[in-house]
Amino acid sequence: MSGLVIRNVLLEGADAAVDIAVRAGKISAIGADLPTSAEELNGNGVLLVPGFVESHLHLDKACILDRCRNETGTLEGAISSVAEAKKGFSEEDVYDRGRKVLEKAITQGTNAIRTHVEIDPGIGLTGFHAIQRLKQDLAWALDLQICVFPQEGLINNPGTAELLEEALTAGADLLGGCPYTDSDPNGQIACLFEMAERHDVDLDFHLDFDLDPSWRHLDEIARQTVAFGWQGRVAIGHVTKLSALSRKDLLEAVQILKSAEIALTVLPSTDLFLMGRGSESLVPRGVAPAHVFHEHGVCCTVATNNVLNPFTPYGDCSLPRMANLYANVHQLGSAEDLKACFDMVTAAPRRLINKAHKIEVGEAATFVALPAMSGQQIVSEIIRPVWGMKNGKFTFEQAPARLMGPLAAQGRTEERRAALVP
Ligand SMILES: [Zn+2]
Repeated sequence: MSGLVIRNVLLEGADAAVDIAVRAGKISAIGADLPTSAEELNGNGVLLVPGFVESHLHLDKACILDRCRNETGTLEGAISSVAEAKKGFSEEDVYDRGRKVLEKAITQGTNAIRTHVEIDPGIGLTGFHAIQRLKQDLAWALDLQICVFPQEGLINNPGTAELLEEALTAGADLLGGCPYTDSDPNGQIACLFEMAERHDVDLDFHLDFDLDPSWRHLDEIARQTVAFGWQGRVAIGHVTKLSALSRKDLLEAVQILKSAEIALTVLPSTDLFLMGRGSESLVPRGVAPAHVFHEHGVCCTVATNNVLNPFTPYGDCSLPRMANLYANVHQLGSAEDLKACFDMVTAAPRRLINKAHKIEVGEAATFVALPAMSGQQIVSEIIRPVWGMKNGKFTFEQAPARLMGPLAAQGRTEERRAALVP
């Protein structure tokens, strides 16, 4: 008999443990004490979740701290140092660094990712081609969605629009924008909406990445979203200006996003690292309060953005850690708030990238196992997953930590050696 029955697992919101039967890559049954002659695995009471979803990640410029540094610590410093390093990028180089990040993400329980890839006349489609290969080569473990975007501007950078068109024709999944680096931000926004309409793709903008609330591009994005009928198909990331608003102005912004059905992505690690560099003390946090938007029904996500580069010299690709960081920055501690943070790295980004998936009979056997009782606990304790599966096949496993006991501590090397040998 082929197939597998995983015994004694918890599902979110359920009171009692169940068994899950997997056959031909799908969930064939869920219930208590499922009878089977198939192979069996003891789940030991782990919580099964559909997996973490990364809504905003730059693979092409990850892991480059060996070749460039952000001298000023500012956004401008990050952009210029990466632009310089980008001149040396090759397809193999982008592939190797991207693969390292994706393999790390897989072991952190992430099984779907939207990645932003820079396109301009300098790099051409080199980075894009590398990411396309990664999408194919790692499809056994995760779904990669490719968002191509003009990091160094569009209107001011002749040839970029043509390259974006080429990438979309060659299979890029959606289009990104970065109006704050453009000589004509509104011109860029208009051009990208027209291109998105022509190719029938979603849009995802890097937007309003400073702490000055006296001007912003958010209103123009909302206006164009409605004008093009692109409600539900536009996301904006960073939007750090939102952290500088009064409660009244913030709630007004909530209504703007809500009525245009625009999603909000917050990148806490990058925003904390780059914002407020002009302050000597009481440094502003500069992280948009996504939970307030989430509360009002806006699709909100928390994501990693950058890994080990001048924008963010950190990164373990753990979304539970990122959700915990977000909760900590915004002083969120109630069960309800922590559950919202969990949603912002699971269900909400899954909706955003159109990868809806539930653990139900007939669905793909794709899930991640964590030694926890709830999403809230996963965020508050930064619980690491112990194994994952995609379409019925295991994608990773990691042994939980084990205490050695007093014998090992007293120097019984034989005992310790025995414990170290798998
Ligand atoms: Zn980004």
